[in-house]
Amino acid sequence: MNREAIVAGAGIGGLAAAIGLLRTGWTVTVLERAPKLEEAGAGWSFAPNALRAADALGVGEEFRACSVPTEAGATMRLPGGEYLMRFQPGTDAPLLANHRADLQRVLARHVPADRLHTGAEVTGVQETGDGVTVTYVDGGDTRTTTADLLVGADGIHSAVRRQVWPDTPEPIFQRILCWRGVTEPGSVWPVNGFQTWGRGARFGAHPLTGERVFWFLTVRQEEPGRRYDDDLAEVRRRTRGWHDPIPALLAATPSEQVLRHDIYDLDPLPAYAAGRTALLGDAAHAMTPFLAQGACQALEDATVLAAELSVAPVAEALAAYDRTRRHRTQQVQRMARTDPKLTLSTSPFTYRIMTAMTRRASSGVARRKSARLWDWTPPVVEVR
Ligand SMILES: Cc1cc2nc3c(=O)[nH]c(=O)nc-3n(C[C@H](O)[C@H](O)[C@H](O)COP(=O)(O)OP(=O)(O)OC[C@H]3O[C@@H](n4cnc5c(N)ncnc54)[C@H](O)[C@@H]3O)c2cc1C
Repeated sequence: MNREAIVAGAGIGGLAAAIGLLRTGWTVTVLERAPKLEEAGAGWSFAPNALRAADALGVGEEFRACSVPTEAGATMRLPGGEYLMRFQPGTDAPLLANHRADLQRVLARHVPADRLHTGAEVTGVQETGDGVTVTYVDGGDTRTTTADLLVGADGIHSAVRRQVWPDTPEPIFQRILCWRGVTEPGSVWPVNGFQTWGRGARFGAHPLTGERVFWFLTVRQEEPGRRYDDDLAEVRRRTRGWHDPIPALLAATPSEQVLRHDIYDLDPLPAYAAGRTALLGDAAHAMTPFLAQGACQALEDATVLAAELSVAPVAEALAAYDRTRRHRTQQVQRMARTDPKLTLSTSPFTYRIMTAMTRRASSGVARRKSARLWDWTPPVVEVR
């Protein structure tokens, strides 16, 4: 039986979905709006649940090969350098950090080049009796293609979501701004990975392959769209006097490569599937980065979607996918929205209480909180 799927978006979610579907015998076409897969971007970290999903999709070894263990999940410092909690080897599970471009390249290798169309922006979705027709713009030409399944993996501003669920609310600004950067190779090395908790500001660093270090600074910001003449200078200003190696990491970062993002998330959606269309990743459940789970959840989604579609007809499989994924991802989404209300509070009182509690509870509490997120077993994605 030849079953055809269209995947909108070639981010981590779309590529993982394509890999899962190809693995289970589907013919897949990926439509990606960007003219080419981006080399830019920054780093991110992945928890054990994401690694299990990557293993189930058959890409775990390559995932590990482009990643570096980081202690940032269980090492928390104050701006003066004092440790609130410290990673304990043998007890704490390290996260794996990699550069977005490296991971995207690894995943894209598993999708045949002639099935991945860049410069193709999905603009319309129409259910027909026995298929779903997708309209897309390719180099100024409008084209259509029909398949048995459409996976909307086109990110937080998903065109697929707007087409199929026109009444869902727009993404919500969470009063958070995030800067990210990557150091020049070998300039500050080794770095084990840590987070530093200031009042209304959180800095973090992860080692990457090639002796690079990825860092981020998240801060409170009341309105979206605030711009700075020099982002790196603003990060330096906000972390002035903070402990080593923060100044060295900033000094080793090319200023033109610093990224700035206003942080939005989505309210929980009433459904992730309708007819022959499924939403996945940020298109379904964009969340703040505070639990570092957005991409991890996209990998979980892709695994469950492929597993369900390998054993059941589309309608049944999508209903099962919706049932399985909505509860878990919306729990994580809610936690990711609540977390910065406390941990990024600018209130001196809240900051004092939160840091005192963290110091006292140390990594035991963090471990239990993480275990709730990370304890996830993937379904088997049988190769067909
Ligand atoms: C500052 C920050 C830090 C983060 N850190 C982490 C972390 O450490 N760990 C973690 O797990 N997650 C993290 N996340 C979350 C993570 O980045 C996202 O959850 C993840 O990238 C979602 O992947 P996706 O494939 O669903 O969407 P995206 O990565 O947004 O990909 C969507 C793709 O669809 C394409 N597209 C868009 N519209 C169309 C269209 N109409 N037609 C065709 N193509 C289209 C886009 O060009 C893009 O390639 C972080 C997020 C932010 C903002």
